[in-house]
Amino acid sequence: MGVKNWDAIVIGAGIVGLSLAIELNQLGLRVLVVEKGEPGREASWAAGGMLADFPLETPPLLRELATASARMYPEFVRGLEEESGLKIDLRSVGTLVLFHGETGVHRVSVGPSPATTEAYALPGPLAELEPALRAPDAAAPQFTALYAQERCVDPRHLTSAAIAAARHRGVDFSSGDPVLDVEVVNGKASGVRTSKARFAAGLVVNCAGAWAGKIPPHHFPTRPVKGQMLCVVMPEKELVRHVIRTPDVYLIPRSDGRLVIGATQEEAGFDKQAVPGTIQKLRQAALNLVPKLAEARILEAWAGLRPGTPDGLPILGATPTPGCFVATGHFRDGILLAPVTARLMSQIITGQTPQIDVLKFSASRFGS
Ligand SMILES: Cc1cc2nc3c(=O)[nH]c(=O)nc-3n(C[C@H](O)[C@H](O)[C@H](O)COP(=O)(O)OP(=O)(O)OC[C@H]3O[C@@H](n4cnc5c(N)ncnc54)[C@H](O)[C@@H]3O)c2cc1C
Repeated sequence: MGVKNWDAIVIGAGIVGLSLAIELNQLGLRVLVVEKGEPGREASWAAGGMLADFPLETPPLLRELATASARMYPEFVRGLEEESGLKIDLRSVGTLVLFHGETGVHRVSVGPSPATTEAYALPGPLAELEPALRAPDAAAPQFTALYAQERCVDPRHLTSAAIAAARHRGVDFSSGDPVLDVEVVNGKASGVRTSKARFAAGLVVNCAGAWAGKIPPHHFPTRPVKGQMLCVVMPEKELVRHVIRTPDVYLIPRSDGRLVIGATQEEAGFDKQAVPGTIQKLRQAALNLVPKLAEARILEAWAGLRPGTPDGLPILGATPTPGCFVATGHFRDGILLAPVTARLMSQIITGQTPQIDVLKFSASRFGS
């Protein structure tokens, strides 16, 4: 079994691993991405693509990363488009965040000061912003609507472009064979072992998403959190104009007239089945918001596995094994957080001081 050498090996070709591979390559490192299946076909393919940066919903410890990453997005997407030659549907229409009934009152009361809430006031009457919405008084008596100037992106476009851009830059790929473990020689990372090959590098980064905890020597406490979604074709291309989030369901319109409806949050192990009854409930929740969606044709339903952690925060940085790093656990926000994660991790891996301190995201917070 021959052993080839790279400067860095990234385990996992999801959006986190791909973005990091590109960033390390830009710093002049020879990078190999090792993927157990087909690149970009797990959580990063299943995601909705909201780039949610809204104080009422983002965990306080994540806000600095979320805001920094949201700001990086237009340039991140432009770079991937240029290097891949592919178009990425990045939309800046904004998000309507709707709260109703008891949940709404509770969520708003634990949120920012009234002044901050004012910053999220609707830019116009709801009926003009989103004419297809069921009249608020009919939907719920205590209806609160806020507006966030967020973007959204088609994660499948994004991931395909990241794969093409990485290849174009000369990042190497090995796919279809899982990493069994990170090899450690004299206490330092020396590469990875798969069932068919060994690949050598002094730097190894575990970006294996929900599976990250299965790769020795470290057993990061990641777990899969299943999310089911469906995609419909809207009867009119701009029937729904904004991303709409409610406590029950969210709607994400794409520029070509598709609408993504999501998503469940289930503890179901590594099961990725889309269950017809569950998909039907999601569709019904969408219909309750936008009745005209009854005319929409269902295109596809699917499920994916978010990389969850015990405290809902990512695991980022060095590990006790020199040369071995981790970037995973992005849970519901990995599409949003990919650019900032790639930037900070590449700084850490190449011995620079990261521009945002990520010590609070260290794996050491979970003990040994
Ligand atoms: C239904 C749903 C909706 C979502 N909506 C949003 C959203 O709107 N906005 C947002 O920001 N985020 C969203 N997310 C979360 C987002 O998808 C994830 O946080 C993000 O994709 C994680 O990226 P990743 O690269 O870490 O993981 P993944 O994309 O899962 O990639 C990990 C890769 O590692 C590979 N791998 C695993 N084990 C091994 C091994 N042993 N050897 C080699 N390779 C291995 C896997 O095959 C996989 O390709 C959503 C997720 C789901 C499921």
